[in-house]
Formats: sequence, C-alpha cells, structure tokens
Amino acid sequence: MNGYSTIPYVIAFSNELVEDPIWFEPSAGSVRLAYRPARDGDWVGPGGVRRYASGILRARVRDLLDRPDERGHERMRKLNTLRQWRCMDHLFCQVCGQPAIDLGTGRTPWLLVRPVFEATGPGTGRTNAPPCCWACVPKALEECKMLRAEPVMLCTVGDVTSAGVLADIYQPMPDTGQPVPCLRNAFVAWSDHIWHAGALAVAQVVDLHGIEPVGPRDGPALHGLR
Ligand SMILES: [Zn+2]
Repeated sequence: MNGYSTIPYVIAFSNELVEDPIWFEPSAGSVRLAYRPARDGDWVGPGGVRRYASGILRARVRDLLDRPDERGHERMRKLNTLRQWRCMDHLFCQVCGQPAIDLGTGRTPWLLVRPVFEATGPGTGRTNAPPCCWACVPKALEECKMLRAEPVMLCTVGDVTSAGVLADIYQPMPDTGQPVPCLRNAFVAWSDHIWHAGALAVAQVVDLHGIEPVGPRDGPALHGLR
C-alpha cells in the first residue's frame, strides 16, 4: 500500500527507470559526464533539449505512462524525469498532467512543502515540485496530510522562469576515470557552469515569482471546490 488513491502524473513506474552506462568523455581539453553511447537530446539547457555540444546531462528515463501493460509498478518515491520536466516547461499539473494555469486569473496554483521549496526573497522562491491545478488541489492536500509531517502552503504564482536542475554530481576516479557520485540532489543553476560537466540532472528547478499565499477559505472555496 502506498497511501495514494491516485498515481500522480510525475511519479515513475519501475520499467521506466534506465540504467544506461555513464562515463567521463574528453571534451574541450577536459572531461564531462556522458552516456555511452551518447545521443543527441541527452543534454538540456534553460531553453530545453540541447544539441550534443552543450548543456547538462539529463538522466535518461522511458515514458510508458500510456502503456499500462508495459510500465510495471509505480515507484511512489521516484519522479519520472521526463514528465517532471514537461510539467515545468508547460506548467502542467503534477497530479493529472493537464495545464494547471487558472485561465480566469492568469495565475498558477501551487502547493509548496519545505523539502521541495526554498524562499529566495519576498514573494519569490525556488522549487522542483510542479504546479497543481485547482481541480487536483483537494486530492493533493489530502494525500500531503497523510504522507508528510510538514505544513503545506497553497499559493498562486504569477510567473515562472527556469532556474537550473537538481542533479547528482559525479567526479572521475583519479586512476580509472570511472564516475563516482559525490553529491546527491544538489541544486545546480544554469549559470553555475563549473558544476555542469559532472552533473546528472534528475529534475528541473524553477524560480517562482509573485507568490501569493491562499488562505484556507479563499482559494478552494472561490473555485467551488468546497
Ligand atoms: Zn490536476
């Protein structure tokens, strides 16, 4: 039993996880992390998938959401990197995968919990958790209450920009050059170029602008959810 009544769109299934080999390949007089063999589309940048030449290596996963007979069991503690990325690029709801933006206000509802949210200033913050559409908010709040001890903040967001990635950072072993993980789930900004060569991105991180908390009475009530 996983405690969820629905499987959120961003959650990974066991047969989607990919264990392709990685290594440090020579690059511009130095080395950088790459899959072996590499493919175009392995690297990402702030504008999406990059050509072979630049960006951060993104963890490969398969997308078998529409193939229930092939996808295997849900892995509730793992995100599917491709679907998480899609949610951030297009502001899709992390639960149902549909557009989360409220067309009436032009603002996007978001549920923020401390482990996946960091305030960066008044009304701004950074997160790797995708938005949650109004229709899914009650369900998501219920699941959150059940699964997490931390308080959940329901808010709306005016604007979103890509900040960087959450990545596992690798270093080459001195003798063999074999990649060894030295840091897990580290935030790497698009401008932190020094970390890019050793990073394997597992999620996209976005900056939220114009965050406005929603009181327990206004948000869902205003939207006819209670
Ligand atoms: Zn939804």
